[in-house]
Amino acid sequence: MNMTQYMIGVDLGTTSTKVVLFDLHGQAVASANNPYPLYQDTPDMAEEDPAEIFDATITGLTEVLRRGHVRPSELQGVSFSAAMHSLILMDKDNAPLTRVITWADNRAAKYAEQLKDNDLGMALFKNTGVPTHPMSPMVKLLWLNAEHSDLVAQTTHFVGIKDYILFRLFGRYVEDDSLANATGLFNIHTMDWDEQALSLTHVQRAQLPELVDTTYQLRGMKSAYADVIGIDPNTPFIIGASDGTLSNLGVNAIDPGVLAVTIGTSGAVRVVTDKPVVDPQGRLFTYYLAKDRWVVGGPVNNGGIVFRWVRDQLFAPEKLTAEQLQIDSYELLTDIAAKIPAGADGLLFHPYLGGERAPIWDANARGSFFGLTRQHTRAHMVRAALEGIVYNLYMVMLMIEGITGKPQAIQATGGFARSALWRQMLADIFEQDVNIPESFESSALGAAVLGMDSLGLIDDLSAVKDMVGVTRTHHPNPDNFRVYRELLPIWIRLTRELGTEYAAIADFQRAHPDPNAHIAAED
Ligand code: ADP
Repeated sequence: MNMTQYMIGVDLGTTSTKVVLFDLHGQAVASANNPYPLYQDTPDMAEEDPAEIFDATITGLTEVLRRGHVRPSELQGVSFSAAMHSLILMDKDNAPLTRVITWADNRAAKYAEQLKDNDLGMALFKNTGVPTHPMSPMVKLLWLNAEHSDLVAQTTHFVGIKDYILFRLFGRYVEDDSLANATGLFNIHTMDWDEQALSLTHVQRAQLPELVDTTYQLRGMKSAYADVIGIDPNTPFIIGASDGTLSNLGVNAIDPGVLAVTIGTSGAVRVVTDKPVVDPQGRLFTYYLAKDRWVVGGPVNNGGIVFRWVRDQLFAPEKLTAEQLQIDSYELLTDIAAKIPAGADGLLFHPYLGGERAPIWDANARGSFFGLTRQHTRAHMVRAALEGIVYNLYMVMLMIEGITGKPQAIQATGGFARSALWRQMLADIFEQDVNIPESFESSALGAAVLGMDSLGLIDDLSAVKDMVGVTRTHHPNPDNFRVYRELLPIWIRLTRELGTEYAAIADFQRAHPDPNAHIAAED
């Protein structure tokens, strides 16, 4: 009988769990995407229900095995990717005392401010690699200790979402070094919990999961769940790593000098190094992926979500027309922007509509157009917005370049890659060739590849090269990059100069909220 071997990658995301069945060549054979709500009872809250994520995982596993007609003996293993920075408080009966407090939850903002730019904050950053920000579970613990001490007093374990799921399946609290790294409680130099962070947050080692490498295998899952899913309970579950680091693996950006640029709803720029390289200024993260592979980079709030705002607020009639004609409204807008020359005739846009993490780490940052004249049109504005999003990512790239050297190649992914104009802009502004990998759920693929490596099914992680092809390559256009070279210094200088006024305008906005508007959570 013909036996195919399969590997499953599970990606526990912020709004859904994606489960993908891959063959050992990295080809996706079946997939399932099960969403769940992000609870935002107040503007600063961003929580998920752990039980809903557990159910989405079990359902997804069951679905892909059924859709792929996989026999239990054909499944080599299941490997995990998970969103970073999640925190759940568990009680003595191993029941959750809280929902999952996600990276997007901002209620610890005040406690991040207190640590920012002081010696303690900097010392913690240098040892943990996590920028001081309310996303960090370490900072969330300071908030919980101060404002919810009743809950903390009942807590026997502080865990992340994947730890919770694995506990329910295997009855043990274990956490990989990669997700542990993202808690802000883990020392990247000793590869152990960080004593200073533990004492600051009053967390005991016994309250944290057991630390293991990202290739660690669990076997012997509870048979009731194995029966539901339809697998052998001894199928190896590989613990895996964080979604950001696995995304670099899944787009084949794991060699030194290969930059992964993502522009989806948000954005990120990341590169792999062979050692934990730390940004002396605290603006970039340093996260563990696997032995001798670390990911240095910056997360950006303002990616495609800003383009969506431009479409909805400046081009509402066009959006309606596109809907009526059943054409893609983003495509309609990029066609309009393509008629405007590179540099938008000197119109600059700072995309900080949702505050910003990297490169400026300023929750008070706000958006702006600069350089407007009567000659500028709405078409200039859309082009300037697309360029502004890329300028901002370029600034993150400059920071990475400063500590890891000039990038040699760019692998770019995310919704933006549907637009030829936007892809070319990235090549022109970065003055680099841009490859668009044919990536299907890059974090899930990264997890599957890490799982294959753990099981000895591939020689090493670089096997991903043969699994990820290139759909398109864009070369920088000299006419365009000369224009961008002139504009970029102005854009970057402005970012600094405007920075002094961001707090003032944000204070004004907070003091005079629009009673008709819902002000979304910012970070
Ligand atoms: P997510 O990060 O939530 O998974 P995507 O990677 O799909 O989302 O990115 C969504 C973003 O991609 C949208 O907000 C939009 O800015 C951008 N986008 C989607 N389609 C197009 C298109 N045809 N042209 C340009 N940009 C697009």
